[in-house]
Parts: sequence; structure tokens; C-alpha cells
Amino acid sequence: MTSLPQDSGIAFLASGSRGNAALIYDGGRGVLVDCGLSAREARRRIDDAGLSDVRIEALVVTHEHSDHVAGVRVLSRAIGAPVYATRATLARMDAHLVDVPDVCVIRPGETLALATFSVVAFRTSHDAADPVGYVFEDTRGRRIGIMTDTGVLTEEIAEAIAGCDVLGIEANHDYDMLENGPYPGFLKQRIRSDRGHLSNRSAGDALERLASDRLHTIVGLHLSEQNNHPRLARASLGAASRSLGLSAEVHVASQRTPLVCAIVNAR
Ligand SMILES: [Zn+2]
Ligand SMILES: [Zn+2]
Repeated sequence: MTSLPQDSGIAFLASGSRGNAALIYDGGRGVLVDCGLSAREARRRIDDAGLSDVRIEALVVTHEHSDHVAGVRVLSRAIGAPVYATRATLARMDAHLVDVPDVCVIRPGETLALATFSVVAFRTSHDAADPVGYVFEDTRGRRIGIMTDTGVLTEEIAEAIAGCDVLGIEANHDYDMLENGPYPGFLKQRIRSDRGHLSNRSAGDALERLASDRLHTIVGLHLSEQNNHPRLARASLGAASRSLGLSAEVHVASQRTPLVCAIVNAR
């Protein structure tokens, strides 16, 4: 999607098992969450989203799986921005960190100042070394949560991202499509496990614990191309949102095209 971006927002450049990246920006300064696309493709999508003037001041990484880190090294070197992740994630990133300008450890629960945002990492539940999600708070107190690649909603996640204005939440698979789909049994098991990925239904259930009346935009993330359909993910999140009496917009991020969401003031 090409659009005229607002002064502040979040652009989901790509989302899914073939690459993830999201750019959160405010007043011309931004932070990239993950770069699982090639650096060239990430920059092409930033241009497509109309955000080529945003100065990316940090790359924060959720976990070391290649769909989240494949382009980190080249992009970090090209733009001179430091890479942030938990210590155990950095230890697993090896070649992805060679010659990057700076590498910084994030400790879950600690607040970091990155670009114009206060950023806090929280632990997720996934088969990686020490995976995290992130909550960004801008200078006007608006909160953006990104929770992807987690098999369950833990207490820690719920506490960290309750009360967001914009919430990106994993809606990886439709349970029946996964069950009846082509994946081998061990992989189905891995995806469904507590350290796998959230289904549409579990994402909808999670909203019950996470939503407040500030929540104006919900974005389904990391949809499987094999085991999900955007219509199903949107329906599940939309039904959960309506049952909570919210009038939030519901979108799903795509593997192929950027989705740009504005951050508007809390009602
Ligand atoms: Zn992933
Ligand atoms: Zn992963």
C-alpha cells in the first residue's frame, strides 16, 4: 500500500514466515523492529510506504530466527544504526552481527530511549534463545505494542502490553487449516505448542485480556500463507473486538505489501 504517511505511525513492511520488519516513526525519526527481509527489499518497501525520509536510529530484534534477522547486518551497516536484542539472542545471531556499527543488550523490563520513543522489551514464549516483543511509548504517551512469535499469552506479556493504542498481535494460523493442511505432524505440533505461534482464535482470546478503550487499531501479524487466510484472521480479531464493545479498526499485515497505520490520540 502506498499512502501519505502521517507524522507518526507504524509501517508493517512485511509480516510472515518469509520475513518480518516494522518501522515505528515519529517526527522523521524511527526504530525498525526486526529485519527479516533483505536490506534492499526493506528499503524498497520503506520507499513504497513513503517513509524514505525517516532516519532509522536503531534496529531492535525480537529473536534470532532468520525471518526476523536476515537483513539486519547489511541494513545496520548501510545506515549506521545499532542493533539491540537480548543477550542470548545476540549470542545466537553470529554472522548477522559481523561489523555492525554497535551491538547493545536489551534486558526485558528495562526502559530504553530510542529515537523519540521509550521502549520496553517483554519476554515471549517461542522456540528461540530469549525471544521478546516490544512496547513503544511516544512523547504523547501513546503506546504501540508488538507481540509476535509466541505460543501463548503469558502474564508477563499481558502486563506489558495492556492498554496499548495500537496493537500488533500474532494471528499465525487457523486451527482447522493447520490440522488438515500439508505440514508434517512434528511441525504442526511445534506450531501449536506453547513455544510456537498464536492461532486466530487464541489471538482473539488474548484481546480480551489486552484491550482497553484506548485501543484504536489492531493488526494481525505473521499470518501463515499455508495455514491461514487474511479473511479468517480479520474475522477472528474483529469478532473479539466487537464482543468487547470496541470500535477499533482491524487489519492484517501482509507478507508482500507494506501496511501503514497512523497513531491517533487516545479517546
Ligand atoms: Zn517468525
Ligand atoms: Zn520465530
